Formats: sequence, C-alpha cells, structure tokens
Amino acid sequence: QNQADEIELKDKVSIIIRIRPTLTNELQEQFIRQVDDSTLKIMRPGNSLHMKFNSILPSASNQDDVYNLTQESILSFLNGTNNTIFAYGQTGAGKTYTILGDHSENPSQLNNEKILSYLQGQERGILPRSLYQILSELSKRDQEDYRLYISFFEVYNEKIYDLFNGRDQKDGLEIRESKNGDVQIPDLITVEIQNIDQALDILMVGLRNRATGSTMANSKSSRSHSIFQILLQQKIKIKNETYEDEIVIESILRIVDLAGSEKFKIPHDISIEEKQTRIDELTCINGSLSTLGHCISALIDKNRTHIPFRNSKLTRVLSDSLSGNGKITFIVCISPSMSSSSETFSTLQFANRAK
Ligand code: ADP
Ligand code: MG
Repeated sequence: QNQADEIELKDKVSIIIRIRPTLTNELQEQFIRQVDDSTLKIMRPGNSLHMKFNSILPSASNQDDVYNLTQESILSFLNGTNNTIFAYGQTGAGKTYTILGDHSENPSQLNNEKILSYLQGQERGILPRSLYQILSELSKRDQEDYRLYISFFEVYNEKIYDLFNGRDQKDGLEIRESKNGDVQIPDLITVEIQNIDQALDILMVGLRNRATGSTMANSKSSRSHSIFQILLQQKIKIKNETYEDEIVIESILRIVDLAGSEKFKIPHDISIEEKQTRIDELTCINGSLSTLGHCISALIDKNRTHIPFRNSKLTRVLSDSLSGNGKITFIVCISPSMSSSSETFSTLQFANRAK
C-alpha cells in the first residue's frame, strides 16, 4: 500500500462527532469532554480513554458549523461525484435536528407554514441548506445544461416506502439490479425541480407522509432510515483540436437520517403482537446498522474486495454512492449526558471502527 492510496482511503470517510446541548430535563454531569478539535475524552468509571475523529462539534456549535463540514461533499457532488451524508446516533441525540432543523413540534401537527418556517429559518439543517446551495450554484449556469431531480424514501423493516407517495404501500417498493450491478428502485417517484420553493414544497409532502406514517402502520420515524436523494444530470462539453462532443454525467447526493441506534427495551405492558413488531424492528435496525458498519470497514480496507452490500436493504440501495470514489460523511450525534453513557459509548465505538 503506497502513501497515495492511504491518503485517498483516509479521505473517503469523514467522521464528525456532534455533541448536542444538555436538555433542560437532563443532569448536567457529563460523560464526555472535548480535548481539542479532533479528540474526545470519554470518562468511564475506573478508566478514561481518548478517541480521535475528523472533527468534533461541541454543544455550542450551530447549524452553520455542521454545514461547513459537509462542503467538500456538496461541492464534489456538483462536480460529478456520488456522495453520502449520514446522521447516526441514538434516538434523541440530534439526528433529525442536524438533517432537517428545529422540528421540536411534531410535523404531523404542524401546518405547512410552520414546517416551511423551520426549513427556511436560521436553524435549518443540512438537507434544506444543500438544496439552497445546489440550486443557487446551478442557477448561475445555463438552464439547458443541467437537470436536477429529487426522491425521498424510507427503509423500514427491510422494506422500501416512497415518502412522496402518500398512498398505502403495503409490500414496499422493489429493488432491481441491472447487469452491471447498478441498483435501482424502478417505481420510486422522482421529481424534477427548478427552484427552491418548489423543492421545499415537495420536501414538505415527504415530511408530512413520514410523520403521519400513512405509508405504513404503527411505525415511528425513529425506527426507519430516511433517504433523500438529489440526482444531478449535467452536460459536459469535451473539446480538443480535432474533436468536439457533449456528454451527460450523473451524480447522486444522498442525505440519510438513520434509525436510532439504541438497543431499545421492549416494554412489558404491550400486546404480544406489538412485542413481535418491536422485536422485528429491532432485528432489522441492528442488522442494517451493523451491515453498514461492516461495509464502511470493508470499503476503507485496501485488502478487502468483497463489500457486504447485499446483507441489508439500506446498504444495497446506497451501494452506488458508497463505493467507487464517493465520499462518505458521518455526522455522529451524541448526547452529553451521563444518563446516556452506555448508548453514547456504543455510538462512539461504531464511529471509531468506521474511521
Ligand atoms: P433524533 O432525530 O436523533 O431522535 P432529534 O433531532 O429529534 O433527535 O433531537 C431531540 C431533541 O433535541 C429535539 O427536541 C431537538 O430539537 C433537540 N436538539 C437536538 N440537537 C440539538 C442542537 N444541536 N441544538 C438544539 N437543540 C437540539
Ligand atoms: Mg429523528
């Protein structure tokens, strides 16, 4: 392995730890301490340890700070690379806040005006910010030279549900694989967008569908992975002395709000059917998150040629943006509180293995 390869591999995955502020009902006692820009000290009973990541965002950081760290991913997507941005962490650690923004009220009870205000406000997250930036970059170009499409879906219990489709989708959407290994979801609704108002309106439809769960019975958004895809087609002119041509290149940016990584307890006071539902959800979430971890480890290991994408729906549908020269960014969200220490520790172990 030469030095150039190592640099290339190291840059492929970037791990950002975001510590959310202490909530009013949480104890002030802290489980983790930031040592410097990239080092965390984890205070475990009896021993403390240090872990290094690409960046650490303290509780006081804001949505601008997080978004700045995704710039490499956004800009290289505009230049034709397939990239993926994940929010990982236990439920309540700040994933949806990071991706969408301040949504403290349940979107199913919000009117469009309110949802729009959090997508447009100061505290808007990575997803609306990227739509703003991408559309503003593209608006500087000739309208004829590009096309932009979005789609939004959810993976719940190993099934795919279209969030732009408010109708019942009992069995979920099918994945198809072409001969050259490209994974596609043929029935997924893909909407062409031209401006930010249009994009936000359509995003809102998806958010409402996600919150009301009309696409599936008894599910909570924290138990599914939601994947927002931005597909860019751009015309590139190739020209030299003897030859002139125009090609279309395609790139995909995927912004993923993962299901909560916690090992949640099954409540006692629920029916047998409900218990079974919870057990199924737990099995699917643990399976897909651990497969995701295995795929990332395999992708950054030069000696590994087999990447176990096929072991979960999540990794299958993401395979074409995880592999190749695609850049992978993890925003790993953690709670600072002592009461979450064991979940936070397993979250950090996942992040540490994915480096
Ligand atoms: P998750 O999606 O991981 O379950 P949420 O994003 O819903 O977690 O966050 C849980 C709560 O904490 C929400 O009320 C959210 O507004 C708040 N919160 C999370 N991160 C931050 C932050 N960085 N600053 C302020 N509030 C936050
Ligand atoms: Mg969430």
